[in-house]
Amino acid sequence: MSASRKLLVHDGHVADADGTRRADVGVRGGEIVKVGRGAEVEDADEDEVARVDAGGAYVAPGLIDCHVHLVSDGRPDPKGDHRETDATLSYRAARAMKDDLRAGVTTVRDLNAPNSVAVDAGRAVEKGVVQGPRVRACGEAITATGGHFYQMAREADGVDDCRKAAREQLKRGASVVKVMACGSTIWDDVQAAPELTYEEIRAVVEVAHAKNVPVAAHAPGTEAIKNAVRAGVDSVEHADFMDEEAARMMADEGVYWVPTAKALREFVERGPSNGFDEMYVERARRTKEEAKQSFELALEHGVEIAMGTDAGTAFNYHGENADELSLMVDRGLSPAEALEAATVNAAELVGVNAGKVEEGRYADLVVLPRDPNKDVSAWKEPLAVVKGGEVINDNT
Ligand SMILES: [Zn+2]
Repeated sequence: MSASRKLLVHDGHVADADGTRRADVGVRGGEIVKVGRGAEVEDADEDEVARVDAGGAYVAPGLIDCHVHLVSDGRPDPKGDHRETDATLSYRAARAMKDDLRAGVTTVRDLNAPNSVAVDAGRAVEKGVVQGPRVRACGEAITATGGHFYQMAREADGVDDCRKAAREQLKRGASVVKVMACGSTIWDDVQAAPELTYEEIRAVVEVAHAKNVPVAAHAPGTEAIKNAVRAGVDSVEHADFMDEEAARMMADEGVYWVPTAKALREFVERGPSNGFDEMYVERARRTKEEAKQSFELALEHGVEIAMGTDAGTAFNYHGENADELSLMVDRGLSPAEALEAATVNAAELVGVNAGKVEEGRYADLVVLPRDPNKDVSAWKEPLAVVKGGEVINDNT
């Protein structure tokens, strides 16, 4: 990326967690340098300045999806029983990144890929080899032997082995570490039993936090959520069976909840006609109902929510990420709260200097036809996408 690249997004409204107001946005060297009426890019030679004419539309921060699987493309083989080669998975990751970025997702957090495939995808984007969102990746998730997604994760047992497994991910460049705190609510049992123990998760957290790297826990089940929170994780993924105590614990500890409502919705709606055993669909249906109550508890107790789709799981396609915001609104969030979950909250969780249209942050922007602080469906129709000051597409 050219350090001198200049961009002016003019004649629009800015819509972020600070509200919606009329403003132009000046960009230089990939960062936002000015927000306000008549913002100009300093020392700009007219010819060198790229322009996006927002024409009264709404300039929002790019979406940050805290839970994706770049190597998975939504085909109904979600357990990865038939593992593909890393080369095949890398091509899929390239396609997934393209689809996510064009949908206005400018940062993704990948939570499990074999070896260094997802970490390398992020490096390839940074070096300009392929176009894609910023990628935060966990490398391989850490799971108990035979535990959740063992087919594609790093199996580890006992405190020492879990420590080693965490260090392996840091060594390959992980910017988050993921633990599987229990099984799947679809494939294993409705109330997924704990797998990695409190002590094992704690060991991973100690290793990761010593390097200032956050830990994400796959934890749909009640006991798994509590184990993970007690062990000090930074986000709980899914948490479908959150009870009142779990909600209180998460709120008290400031642990983010990444609900991934879209994953269950797609499975319940499209599973039956695609040959999935009724037992699995029924489990997913019941889990989906439980997860609605998790939203009530989370909102009641003030649990912080960060947006994540689980994109790549069965029928949960990359590029449809904005559906998750609509689902969050269906479950009780206001459009402005959904925006916060997918921008400022997500930025804080994944540790990226984005999430707001503000001077000094990355110029990761999406131009929307309506005000996303009022109308959540606006996210599904991006008119233009800008990442790091680069115009990815512009249909304004
Ligand atoms: Zn996932």
